[in-house]
Parts: sequence; structure tokens; C-alpha cells
Amino acid sequence: MNPDTQEQSPRVVVIGAGHGGGSVVAFLRQYGFKGAITLIGDEPFLPYHRPPLSKAWLKGEVEEAALFFKPESFYAEQDIDLRLGQQVETLLVARRELVLVDGARVPYDKLVIATGATARPLGLPGADADNVMTLRNIADADKLKRALGPGKKVVIVGGGYVGLECAATARFLGADVLVLERAERLLERVASAPIAAFLQHYHAERGVAFELGATVTGLEGGERAEQVVLADGRRFPCDVVVVGIGAIPATALAAAAGIACDDGILVNEQAETSEAGIYAIGDATRRDHPRYHRIRLESVPNAMEQAKLVACAIVGRAPPAAEVVWFWSDQYDLKLQIAGLAVAGEQLVVRGDPATGKFAVFHLQDGRVKTVEAINAPQEFFAGKRMIGTDGSADAGRLADVSVSLSQIVA
Ligand code: FAD
Repeated sequence: MNPDTQEQSPRVVVIGAGHGGGSVVAFLRQYGFKGAITLIGDEPFLPYHRPPLSKAWLKGEVEEAALFFKPESFYAEQDIDLRLGQQVETLLVARRELVLVDGARVPYDKLVIATGATARPLGLPGADADNVMTLRNIADADKLKRALGPGKKVVIVGGGYVGLECAATARFLGADVLVLERAERLLERVASAPIAAFLQHYHAERGVAFELGATVTGLEGGERAEQVVLADGRRFPCDVVVVGIGAIPATALAAAAGIACDDGILVNEQAETSEAGIYAIGDATRRDHPRYHRIRLESVPNAMEQAKLVACAIVGRAPPAAEVVWFWSDQYDLKLQIAGLAVAGEQLVVRGDPATGKFAVFHLQDGRVKTVEAINAPQEFFAGKRMIGTDGSADAGRLADVSVSLSQIVA
């Protein structure tokens, strides 16, 4: 790199080489940023896609190399100083410097914190046994993959997306699967009751057993857990236990540096933290969002959107228009796509027949579409997403009537 050019551009350092970190460095170069970029990640891998870890990769359908966003050569060609297997220990805001675990110091002008989240541990007696696992990264997925197989008794604690995706994959691999969920239904915080009921039925038809309202109090066994114990005294035998009870935003580094955090690193609509010139993106953040009051989102589209916002802010480019929040999950041959946030109290309109395995649930508030959840129904998803983006109104009766085409409703 030409030293004259470097002098004019700030040095950007990114902590965390995951989805957000890997994306922000690519967007910076795409938008013409000429200054120095350093990307520091504590995992030994190139930035990679996490979604396949519970799906195609866990099933053995894709190779590890297919997980990486870009080949190693990309980072060299783009003059991105990639430091993998290195953990940032301290952030010295007043000195604009990072200290790595090995003592190395890295100065910055602009900093992006993209530290992601960690899987919430079960924290119960016996939960430290070797066959009790969480799933967040390649190392976790590798261990889980080795433990799965035909006839294995897999107990999944938590009926959220990661738990259900693992359930589908474990069944695909021939395991006996039991899902234990503390709430009275699946996906209680993140999906509507009709979607949750449909998914439970779909899993059950494929041999997954469920216990709802089931509070796990511990695990029995020795180095290996042999039984999962519930509050009501019931015990379920296990070869493998997968704990999928949510994620904790990785805020420790930022909080210790005095950056405002509250269930996530707090960031404004441009993804800037309480410290000027320090940005934070992805699962680690709780963000101001034009449509919602401070929200914490754990999704690829969220990390990508914030990565774009930061790259724009750093190069002085106008930020893109706010995106409608969206998410997807793959289970068996089902693709669930959700736009907006499923909030209790909205009017639910089902379009299509769940029995066909292809339908959508629209959420209306005062006649306006706020959320759409679509199962194998991409047209409904995109139409709903568009209506949310334009604050469009829709008549519940027409939405529910599949003989009225979506184009007539959206117009
Ligand atoms: P991450 O991708 O987690 O990256 C953070 C990185 O920072 C990690 O590599 C971490 O080790 C590193 N790091 C942390 N602290 C330090 C430090 N001090 N020094 C150096 N490095 C550090 N989203 C969807 O939209 N759809 C899906 O279907 C979907 N499926 C998923 C399935 C699984 C199994 C998992 C785990 C997640 C899934 N997600 C899905 C969520 C999605 O992967 C995350 O929202 C996304 O990865 C967030 O990106 P991020 O950059 O914030 O964090």
C-alpha cells in the first residue's frame, strides 16, 4: 500500500472475524476505502457462515471450505491484514490501542467491535459433562457432528431455532431425538403460535418427541451425562445433550473499556457506540432501529446491514435505507422466512393451508402489516416484507383469501 494514501485514510481495526467482521472489511474495500485494515479473530478460521453449522454442514452435505465467505487469497489481494487465532484482551480507548492476549499492541483510528455472542450455558449440576454441548462455532459443530449418528439418544434442551434445526439434522442422521422446552410452546419469543404448532407437528411426524412445560434441573452421570432430570422428577436417558437456550452478547471487552452496554453494546442507527469512532455490529449489539426501540437481533441480515452502515460511515458514503428486519431457518425441506418481529397482541391472518406445508401468517396492527412468517412461501414473504417496508395496509379478509392474488393486495 502506498504510504501517502495510508496517511490520508484512518487505520481501521475490526475485532471479531465472524459474519459482521468479515463483511465490514469486504464492504470497506468495495466502497473504495484505501487505508489500512486489520481484522483480528480468535478462531483459527477464515470468516465463515454459521447457519450451516446446524444444517447442511452438520448433515455432512458441504465441506468446511464451503463455509468460508472468501478464500484466503481475497484478504491478501485486498491488502487486509488478517490475524486469526488471536484474541483481543483489552481495549484502551484513550490510547486508541488494543492489547492482544500475547501482549501485542495494535493501534487504530476507527474501531469496529464485532465480537458476536456466546451460547448461553445451562449452568445446572452435571452440565459440564463432556457430552453436553452448545453450538456456536466450527469447533462446537465438529464435536457435535462426531457425537451424532443412527440410534443415538439426543436430548435437546430448548425449542428455539438452533434446537429445532439440530433436531431436524439429528433425525436426518438417524438419531432418536427428544426436545425439552420450558415454555408451553416452541419458539415462544420469536414466532407466532400457528407457526410453532405447525413446526412441532412437522417434527413429530418425523419422529421427534417433545416435552413442553419441561424444566430441566440437572444431569446425572459421571464424566458423561446419562440422564436429563426434570423438575417433576422425570428422567430421560441421553447419549448427547444439545443445549440451545439462547446466546449472550459478547460485551465484556467493550464494557471494560467504558463503552455503554445494556444487554448488548448500545449503538445508534449508524452502529456507532457511546465512544465516537468506535462502532459495534452484529450479535454483540443492541441497536437503535428506525422501526423499533432498541433491539437485539441475532441474524445474518442484521450483521450484514450494520456492517454496511459502518463501512458507509467510515468512507463518508450516504447510508443505505433502513432494511426491514428479517431472518430465516431451514428445517427438513421447510424454509421459514420471517420479516418484521413477531409481537404478541397483533391480529394474525393465515394465508394458505398449513396442511399443504406451504402457508404464511401475516400480523396486522390497525390494518397495517407488521410481520410476515412464511413457510415454503417466498412470494408471501417478499410481498409481506414489502408491505412492512412501505407501512402498507391490507384487508385481513383479502389476505386470507388465496383466490385474491398478492399483487392485487400489495398494490
Ligand atoms: P459471529 O459470527 O459470532 O462472529 C464473532 C466472532 O468474534 C467470533 O469468531 C468470535 O470468536 C470472535 N471474537 C469474540 N471476542 C473476540 C475477541 N476478544 N478477540 C478476537 N475475536 C473475538 N442467522 C440467520 O439469519 N439465519 C440462520 O439460519 C442462522 N442459523 C444459525 C445457526 C447457528 C448454529 C448459529 C450459531 C447461528 C445462526 N444464525 C443464523 C445467527 C448468525 O450466524 C449470527 O447472527 C451471525 O453470525 C452474527 O455475526 P457476528 O459477526 O455478530 O458474530
